[in-house]
Amino acid sequence: MSGTFEESLQKLKQLFPDAKEQSLIVALKLSNVQIEKASNIYLEQKEGRINKNKSFLHLKQPKLDSFIKKKQAENENSEKIDSGSSKKRKFDELNEAAVNKQNNSSNKKLLNLQEVLKWPLKSLTVKKRTQTQTLYLYRQEDISARTPCMLIHNVLPKELANSLLRIMLKESETFTRNQGFLFGNLVTSPHTSQYYVSNEMKTRSSNNARYFPPEMEQAKTIIMNIVNEQRKERKIYEYEVQGDWSPNIAAVNCYANSKEAVNWHSDRLTHLGPLPIIGSLSLGVTRQFRLRRFGNGESNSTNATQKTSPSTIYSIPLEHNSLIIMWPPCQELWKHEVCPQNSIDKHPIAGFKRINITFRQFRDEYGSEMTPICHHGELCMLKPVFNGRNVGRYFYSCNSGGPEGKCDFFEWLNIDKRKEEFEKLRMLETKDK
Ligand SMILES: [Zn+2]
Repeated sequence: MSGTFEESLQKLKQLFPDAKEQSLIVALKLSNVQIEKASNIYLEQKEGRINKNKSFLHLKQPKLDSFIKKKQAENENSEKIDSGSSKKRKFDELNEAAVNKQNNSSNKKLLNLQEVLKWPLKSLTVKKRTQTQTLYLYRQEDISARTPCMLIHNVLPKELANSLLRIMLKESETFTRNQGFLFGNLVTSPHTSQYYVSNEMKTRSSNNARYFPPEMEQAKTIIMNIVNEQRKERKIYEYEVQGDWSPNIAAVNCYANSKEAVNWHSDRLTHLGPLPIIGSLSLGVTRQFRLRRFGNGESNSTNATQKTSPSTIYSIPLEHNSLIIMWPPCQELWKHEVCPQNSIDKHPIAGFKRINITFRQFRDEYGSEMTPICHHGELCMLKPVFNGRNVGRYFYSCNSGGPEGKCDFFEWLNIDKRKEEFEKLRMLETKDK
């Protein structure tokens, strides 16, 4: 009798407690969720009995039309705003390729679920800043008019905000830097973070997860109610979460001083699915949250996004106990960053630290079980198309570029089909029992 994907994964974890979670997920998927077969695949890979690159190419031979589509998406998805630095980028790519050749690929670790849930690795590399104008926004009316965000001050009762801050300051002592290989180079985030899951997710969480402390559960409920109240007045997109928004995971970031930061990125969609809502709570020191529009969004623009030009950066100071809600399509058409600052005002409890709790809803139909594996055996990353006629579509591609940057996996996401497939799978799993 076979169990669900999650149950099988838990069993595999018991068999191989030291294994990287992602390696077990990949083995389980390749085995068609058969534990014995998955164990063998995992052991074969671990012991190097099969050449990883060759075996995955054999298992998942790409179709010709997928290459053509990938090329189209690449062309349309290229960020035109950076075209001035294309020569520099070309050099960087050549340089990376040269470094890659010297790297021993067996040292390259697979990324775990915690890392998959956070930022695209590309946001960890430092890029040259292009010339832009910065507009500082303080009032809610201005923020709503010009960005897909909403700012709410003093969102939690004062005592709750302060005690949650104290708890997270203590927790942040053991946060780690997000790290991974991008085209063969090790990149490290300029701040620390940790992934948390709410209590209702306890049975199915990853090895690296921590659970929401009671104060975080309280904060979650307050923020969830605010978001759901606001949604009654908002346009709900066809492919965003229907019914109530129900956050069940949180990425928590700690910026230890004015120089700790995160570069331009949009948040990972891989396990959130299209058009996510992200509720971002700030505690401690005030930092500038910067937003910039990247996509053209011709097929799903809103009034708020039409008033902006790509060269404007909107900077919003996020004070202690403030909530910024990133509404859809913020992750599809915009990027955000927390930049290093020259000076910041000391906070009475946190000193120079900022804690940022970002509440998100993990959607089952976008779990690891449903996520494709790339040619070199990593779980893929789900990305939106930023520009061109395919705006509004999403595709899966390699998370890291693979050894020597040669992994060119590409697959469109078919959202309607995904729902069907997921429901079918759930039905089969309940029949099994
Ligand atoms: Zn790959």
